Parts: sequence; C-alpha cells; structure tokens
Amino acid sequence: MTLADVLPSVGLAGEPPLEPGLWPRTTHLAGGGDLTCGGVRLTRLAARFGTPVQVFDETEIRGRAESLRAAFPDAEIAFATKALPVRGVLRVLGFSADVCSAGEIAMARSAGVPGERILVHGNVKTPEDLKAAFTAHAGRIVADSADEIDQLAALAPAGQRVLVRVTPGVDAHTHRALATAVEGQKFGFSLASGAALDAVGQVLAQPGLRAAGLHCHLGSQVRDTGAYAEAVRRMVRLLAQVRERHGEMLDQLDLGGGFAVPYRAGEPAFDLTGAARRILGMLRLECDRHRIPVPRLVLEPGRWLVATAGITLYRVAAVKSRFVAVDGGMSDNPRPALYGARYTARLVGRHTKAPRRPWTIAGRHCEAGDVLAEDVPLPADIRPGDLLAVPVSGAYHHALASNYNLVGRPPLVAVAGGAARVLVRRETEEDLLRRDLG
Ligand SMILES: *Cc1c(COP(=O)(O)O)cnc(C)c1O
Repeated sequence: MTLADVLPSVGLAGEPPLEPGLWPRTTHLAGGGDLTCGGVRLTRLAARFGTPVQVFDETEIRGRAESLRAAFPDAEIAFATKALPVRGVLRVLGFSADVCSAGEIAMARSAGVPGERILVHGNVKTPEDLKAAFTAHAGRIVADSADEIDQLAALAPAGQRVLVRVTPGVDAHTHRALATAVEGQKFGFSLASGAALDAVGQVLAQPGLRAAGLHCHLGSQVRDTGAYAEAVRRMVRLLAQVRERHGEMLDQLDLGGGFAVPYRAGEPAFDLTGAARRILGMLRLECDRHRIPVPRLVLEPGRWLVATAGITLYRVAAVKSRFVAVDGGMSDNPRPALYGARYTARLVGRHTKAPRRPWTIAGRHCEAGDVLAEDVPLPADIRPGDLLAVPVSGAYHHALASNYNLVGRPPLVAVAGGAARVLVRRETEEDLLRRDLG
C-alpha cells in the first residue's frame, strides 16, 4: 500500500492530485506519473492493448449499481443500453434493459436479460425492430405515436404490455439536443394538449393490448433534481386523470433516465440521495392527494451508471502551437463535435516538473472540428509518445463511435483486482473491409 492509497487526495511527489468525482473509484497515483485502475497500471494497459484504448473499472460500475439500488430500493432499474451496449457490462449490472432497436434487443438477449425485463422505446420502430421485440417477448413497448399504437394493435401478440410516452413539458435545463421532455420536440404525446390522455384511451380500446403505465424521459445530463419532482407531480396527476376518464389504474410510472455526471474539475456530482428523496417523496404525496395507489417506479439511467467507470488512453502523435494531436478523435468520441461536450485529460506515465499551460487536444481525423478537449491544463513539455488519459469516457463513446477515415474502433478492456479482461476487441482492417463486397 502506498501513501496515495491511504491519502488519495495527496499528490505524490508533486504530481497533480486526481480531480474528485472524475476518476473511477479504484484509480490511484502510482508514482512516476503513472496511475493504476482496478489494480493495473495504465501504462501497462496501453502497452499491452495499444492506443486508443477504453478502460473500464468494474468496481466503479458495481458500486454505482449498488448505490442506485439502495437509493430506489423498490424501483425497477432498466439500464439504457444505448449508453454502453456491451454484453459484459449488461451482465455486471444485472438490471432490466431499456433498448430501442433490433440490435439492442439482440444485445440484451445475448446478455441473458429475460424478455419480461426488456423495455423497447424509440420514436421510430421499424418492422424489424417490432419483430425482434415480439420474438423476444419484450415485457413492455413504449408507444410514441398514434400510428404506432394502431400498428401494435394489429401486430403485437395478445396481451402485449404498452407504456405511453408522455411529453410532460418539464424543462430539465440541459443542452437543446439532449432535452426530450419539452413541447415541440419529436418524442411522445403532449400532456398539456390532452394527447397523452387520449393515447392511453387508444391503447385501452385495443383488446389485444394492455396499458401498463406511463413513461417520460426529461433528457440527458440533467442536474436539476427538482425537474424530476415536477415530472412526478405532472405524471401522477395524469395517472389520476386516466383513472377518472378511463376507469383504469395504470400500475407503472417510468421516469426515464438522464442523471448527470461531472466531466471536468469543479462540476458538481448529481445529488442521488436528494433526487431519491424528492422523487419518492413527491410520488407518495401526490398519490395520496389524488387518492390513487402508488405505481411501481421504473428508472432508465444510462450515463450515470457507466460514464465515470471509463478512461480512454491516447498516445500523443504531434505537438504544434497550442495543439496536442492524439491517435484517436471524433471516431472514438464524437460528443465534443456533436454538441460541444467538454472534457479534461491528464498526462500519464511520465513525471515532469514543467509548469502546466492550457492545451487543445486535437484528434486525427480530417475535420477541423475534430477536437477532443480545449483548455486542458497539461505540462508545457508535453511531447510525442506521451500518454494521455481522458476520464468520464464510459458512456456514449463506444456507443457513438464510427470508423471514419477507416480507423478501427478501440477495444474495451475491463479492469478489476489487478487483472484486465477484453470486453470488446479492437476493430481490425479485416472487419472494416468485410462488408464491402467490391
Ligand atoms: C437516452 C435515454 C435514456 C438514458 O439517458 P441517460 O442520460 O444516459 O441516463 C433513458 N431513457 C430513454 C427513453 C432514453 O432515450
């Protein structure tokens, strides 16, 4: 055991301390500028698996799953598979699966998630998606439009359970591209216009379908716990209206996902216990007020469960004016280019006394917008061959990755107890050429 293990916030021999909340819980300073995660040195992982490589701390994922279960002991938790569609991760989490395509259904099934615990959502479900859902005996399908309810009535197996996706009109104060519960975006039935109440009626009128409950999703990277409480208030009122108008008590309330994580030093962590207190408190209070039984709560977090478990390692290829160019980029992390997501990074594996100054980390792709992070404080003597670690890269990296410029997607390597295990191997040139039939 090193001093850094006992006092993890103490810098080792002048090395910068780890920013709290950004690194997986088993990350420690290891001397010589190196870090260990899951008991494995990051420099060793880079040497063994090449770069870029995505490292996952299994202990972090398990710890997060436990905290969530403890905060919402009676809720059903469905992992938003799209955040990290990886079998090994679905297995470690052991939750229900929230999916939105035939591919994600196949992933959930092959990870052993029982059909009953598969929830299918999305504003477009193709015939292939629906067929996959029916074949998997997906427990719930989240209906997003009147056309879709008609389609489900015609095609779904008898007794198919349906949740109605509601737009509760709650502004979660997140990026416009990530806000999914305000009026005027593409998802769900409006609560304010009465469309949601009508949609429940439409489902109830179909003898082959069972209305199981209501669904909403405020968006992603939501920090405001009050937005969840407000959504509960509005959704419970809608449940009461459903009972009044249609004489039916729906027994599930799915609040979607969206819990935020910090990406850079100084950003606050999501207040999970506060959120649980407000959500569960509001649920009981409003159900009492409307004299309806408390529905089963369903939550669908993606990012919050896996983001902070991931670290991406890149090798510096070139240094030019304010740019540090690395061997990955928008192909393994398109989030900065897509919606201005901001990251930090840390030099790993070399100790230096050089002062730190702000750098721009540029990717390798043929786009001026291929920048991974800006204003990152890194040593002034950074040079080719150095290793950079980008924390909080566990969610929506692997999932959004492409093979732009025919760069193979990086491997995913889980670490725990001093051992590394490949969850997804690196994409090879053979993989890249296989679909091109000439
Ligand atoms: C994306 C999405 C989630 C997960 O969002 P996170 O921000 O990753 O928690 C959950 N439910 C639905 C319907 C989604 O579209």
